[in-house]
Amino acid sequence: MTGPVVAQVRETVARLHTELTRYGLVVWTAGNISARVPGCDLMVIKPSGVSYEDLTADSMVVCDLQGVLVDGDLVPSSDTAAHAYVYRARPDVGGVVHTHSPYATAWAARGEAIPCVLTAQADEFGGEIPIGPLARIGGEDIGRGIVETLAKHRSTAVLMRNHGVFTIGRTAREAVKAAVMCESVAYTVHLSRQLGEPLPIPPDDIDALYDRYHTAYGQPDRR
Ligand SMILES: [Zn+2]
Repeated sequence: MTGPVVAQVRETVARLHTELTRYGLVVWTAGNISARVPGCDLMVIKPSGVSYEDLTADSMVVCDLQGVLVDGDLVPSSDTAAHAYVYRARPDVGGVVHTHSPYATAWAARGEAIPCVLTAQADEFGGEIPIGPLARIGGEDIGRGIVETLAKHRSTAVLMRNHGVFTIGRTAREAVKAAVMCESVAYTVHLSRQLGEPLPIPPDDIDALYDRYHTAYGQPDRR
């Protein structure tokens, strides 16, 4: 599979992986990003077990939305089935990110959702960051857990129990942003917990913050 659209998506996905290391969201080869290829039932995803410094546009792999390799010299990420499930179930999703970022994963290890106690969390996630089920790697269980959990929340991030973070976005860049913000929120709420009990934000204030952030914040063409 070649062509300018796939080449562009390969380039974007390879480049976005540098954000995961820049923000300290991954260690060794854990973590992965994928992006839907616009206009066709394909996605570009990180290859399995390749060091972050060795990731290039050419080393990215192209799979169909069943997770079957279509183009690429390397084996796709072991989380490919989960990404593929999300794209099949959610046509609105253009990017998926997975990390074991430490603070968010510490919440996942306890099976505890992150309560909405920060305005930045209300802005980005519109409420708590929920917990998804414990699911085995490789099959569709993770993808189903992601989709079913996020269907009940505005959050674009889910903490899969005992595992780590999955985020979604209209684009891969949005999903990366959600992964960065999720770890930041997990860290700050954890710190707050050490000092006492964080104060919840009332639901109507969460709604107002979320609506403002998604309609009036930043540059109109980047919302
Ligand atoms: Zn994982």
